[in-house]
Amino acid sequence: MDFKFTKEQELLRDEFDEFFREEMKHAPKEWGAGGFEAIYHSDEGFAFHQLIKKKLAAKGWISRAWPKEFGGQDASIIEQMIFSMVHAYYHAPGIDSFGVTMFAPTLMVGGTEEQKAKLLPPIARGEVQYCQGWSEPDAGSDLANLRTQAIKDGDYYVINGQKTWTTGGHRADHMFLLARTDPDSTRSRGLSIFNVKMDLPGVEIRPILHMNKAHYTNDVYFKDVKVHVSELVGKENEGWNLTRQTMNFERSGIGGFIGGKRTVMEMVEFAKTTTRDGKPLWDDPLVKRNIAQLWADYEVGRAMSMRISWQQEKGGRVFSPALASASKVFGSELSQRVAYYMTDLLGQYGQIEKSQWAPLDGRAPETYQFCPAQNIFAGSSEVQRNLIAWVGLGLPRFK
Ligand SMILES: Cc1cc2nc3c(=O)[nH]c(=O)nc-3n(C[C@H](O)[C@H](O)[C@H](O)COP(=O)(O)OP(=O)(O)OC[C@H]3O[C@@H](n4cnc5c(N)ncnc54)[C@H](O)[C@@H]3O)c2cc1C
Repeated sequence: MDFKFTKEQELLRDEFDEFFREEMKHAPKEWGAGGFEAIYHSDEGFAFHQLIKKKLAAKGWISRAWPKEFGGQDASIIEQMIFSMVHAYYHAPGIDSFGVTMFAPTLMVGGTEEQKAKLLPPIARGEVQYCQGWSEPDAGSDLANLRTQAIKDGDYYVINGQKTWTTGGHRADHMFLLARTDPDSTRSRGLSIFNVKMDLPGVEIRPILHMNKAHYTNDVYFKDVKVHVSELVGKENEGWNLTRQTMNFERSGIGGFIGGKRTVMEMVEFAKTTTRDGKPLWDDPLVKRNIAQLWADYEVGRAMSMRISWQQEKGGRVFSPALASASKVFGSELSQRVAYYMTDLLGQYGQIEKSQWAPLDGRAPETYQFCPAQNIFAGSSEVQRNLIAWVGLGLPRFK
């Protein structure tokens, strides 16, 4: 694996850097380190996301690595990774992580030619927003236990059931939904994927508020929702294998590592400019040691993500699930360690939000409150470790 970028790739990085440096000057005041809350909670935050999305689309950057026929530029996956690195460094919005990162590659792997032609260009043009309809009250880690049904009736499937924890469901135009098309099936058999418009009659969205009252997740209910047969993605009853591919796309991102490393850089700055007992915090060997450890771990994470991009570049979009799981579990647990240490380092000031006394834009409380969710969503750490053991190390499968 080659870690060095070419001259052209470095120039491209500079171009992305210039764009985001300028655009992020206009971020809403409470944008902080971006993320779900910044994008989905307020109208202002979502409008900023949509604005940047349009600008990225106009430059063709949302879909740089896609084939030209689908609105892309056939750019290499490594170039797309460079884009993601810069995008994450600036805590920037504009990329619909569900549409661009999960559903689009799933379509490329498993959609029909008509579906690719119809659904990919609006994503590339930044015209649509997606959400992910997988989890249910009794199906999270055990997704194959899902009960939402889509029963065929003539030219339509009729959907009944409930999805939960749907991030950004209240802002989305479409959901990619996993539902049971064979009512007599159990577990992973008899499941299918649908592209569902969120404004169809019978779709009801109710907010799930987080402990700080932020609204980014939802319950979504389906009551006799009619979806045309052309919205079935892949083959009927064979949605599970394709969904497993989608899981890999969800878990492999480099963004988390770069965004987190920037936070560590800000912690270094804080430690250098803050005194405790008359001495800069930075003079405390324990502070230095802890920050250095986090820094080194982010370098490890970056290398893991680069390896995934490199494998994709060499072998197509499909890559080892164990690698994706390793990147996910390492990244989410590292984010938690950063949140805990940031709160520790900032002392009492780490508990203040939205005040002139709050260091690091006052985002420590939110980071701390959000971090337990990080080893749950996109697949919990325990489940990722099972996968690494089974698929990656060849150990007996956990039942
Ligand atoms: C902030 C947030 C956003 C989310 N966004 C979305 C979204 O947009 N769309 C969507 O579909 N879902 C979303 N989810 C749901 C998420 O995917 C699930 O919460 C996750 O898969 C865990 O499922 P669960 O909540 O049912 O917990 P459970 O599966 O019940 O897990 C409970 C505990 O048991 C452990 N456990 C479960 N099975 C095993 C096992 N086999 N071995 C060892 N330990 C195990 C887990 O690790 C966990 O600690 C989101 C969740 C959160 C917190």
